[in-house]
Amino acid sequence: MVDRSAFDKIIAAGGYTSVRTGQAQDANNILISKPDADEAMDCATCIGCGACVAACKNGSAMLFVSSKVSQLALLPQGKPEAARRAKAMVMKMEELGFGNCTNTRACEAECPKNESIANIARLNREFIKRSLPIKNTSLRLFVRRGCLQ
Ligand code: SF4
Repeated sequence: MVDRSAFDKIIAAGGYTSVRTGQAQDANNILISKPDADEAMDCATCIGCGACVAACKNGSAMLFVSSKVSQLALLPQGKPEAARRAKAMVMKMEELGFGNCTNTRACEAECPKNESIANIARLNREFIKRSLPIKNTSLRLFVRRGCLQ
């Protein structure tokens, strides 16, 4: 039996939206582009199996965390808290002893749900937004536009 309770702790650290969104809306009430909706849905297919961690030589949970962060960051309900969420979940991941990502892509190769390491790039961008008090407008735009990976 595999103990995946560490994943539950990471989700509890920030893998949610902290505002009440009310009852389920009619699908047409909130405009979400088809590409964003599709990508968010792809990210949401992560089942928390832990295969990515097992495959990683560093024991990193970045693919799992980044999929959960991306799932919410891509949607209007989750976007406002994306940076705060990314930092909280990464800090919890580190506290629990998971390793760092060194881009070997072993996680991506093993993931049964085809989660992409593009999610890790998105997680890194959100983490940087929260971590650096970027006052330089040009640099802020650079990060927002996803030029930093
Ligand atoms: S291997 Fe894929 S589905 Fe399993 S926890 Fe990692 S990202 Fe999620």
